[in-house]
Amino acid sequence: MLIVMRQDATREQVDAVIHAIEERGCTARPIPGGERISIGVLYNVGPIDPATFQGMPGVKEAIPVTRPYKLVSREIHPHDSVINVGEVSVGGDNFVIIAGPCAVESESQVMSTAEHVKRVGADIFRGGAFKPRTSPYAFQGLGEEGLRILARVRENYGLPVVTEVLDMEHFDMVEKYVDIVQIGTRNMQNFSLLRRAGEAGKPILLKRGMSATVDEWLMAAEYIISEGNPQIILCERGLRTFVRHSRNTLDFSAVPVVRRESHLPVIVDPSHAAGLRDQVLPLSRAGAAVGAHGLMVEVHCMPDSALCDGGQSLYPEQFEVLCRQARAIRDIAIQNH
Ligand code: PEP
Ligand code: MN
Repeated sequence: MLIVMRQDATREQVDAVIHAIEERGCTARPIPGGERISIGVLYNVGPIDPATFQGMPGVKEAIPVTRPYKLVSREIHPHDSVINVGEVSVGGDNFVIIAGPCAVESESQVMSTAEHVKRVGADIFRGGAFKPRTSPYAFQGLGEEGLRILARVRENYGLPVVTEVLDMEHFDMVEKYVDIVQIGTRNMQNFSLLRRAGEAGKPILLKRGMSATVDEWLMAAEYIISEGNPQIILCERGLRTFVRHSRNTLDFSAVPVVRRESHLPVIVDPSHAAGLRDQVLPLSRAGAAVGAHGLMVEVHCMPDSALCDGGQSLYPEQFEVLCRQARAIRDIAIQNH
């Protein structure tokens, strides 16, 4: 349930509502808005009668929340959330492009890729320091040295950086170095990691599990937000299906569904969806057209010698075309919005 207070509600009236919620064994979560405060009622075991709160002084209305997710839902927060990452805003009418290699391999590989993607239009730089690889014998990432290199990208090029955290053990370390902490597809339902992300002071990029429903994905985001971190960017990265012509199947229809259901920004990762370079540009155009708030794309200065995901990494000159086309399409897409 969401209790919307009147614009002129006093502090005492708000406190009285919070007290009434807590007396019923629930948790009250005040949600400050532009004009008025609302209070979310969480952890109720059964339905609550709106009439309980409707008559209280200062209450404008009590709205039952019909969805299983509460704080991520548009029912509770009707306007788009905008996540600020340094000077970059993710969400609303902004379109962000996150680009960089799959993995941080060396200082020179990262710097030359960063120089290029920055020059042609990336807003945020990506690169894995801890890689979730199928094979234990494959390159696992440079670990903390990789994080230091990413921090130098921010210093040298002014680009915020995002990297994946694989486990609880490394959360503090990852959070210290980067601007956005990524939770990958394989960890989307790692509930202790989600709770830790909820305590983080940094935005979280939450990828959709490779066989998760939209509800499960939004419930994963609910874990993060319910622990107190509302800075979440969702990322659709393709589902595991029977097809063999691509690594995964990009579920474009999830984008308008998430936009309808949630106030959180949602971006598309065409690289891990495709697994093949020649599909990345068309999928990026489609992502912009379907209303995603941005893209996350793998780009490598020398894809043919990449240690990870070279086959899906764009050559720098292809990325330039992608930025131009995706931004042009997005401009058209939001005109009739
Ligand atoms: C990644 O973005 O580096 C990655 C491993 O992606 P996913 O979790 O979507 O497979
Ligand atoms: Mn990759």
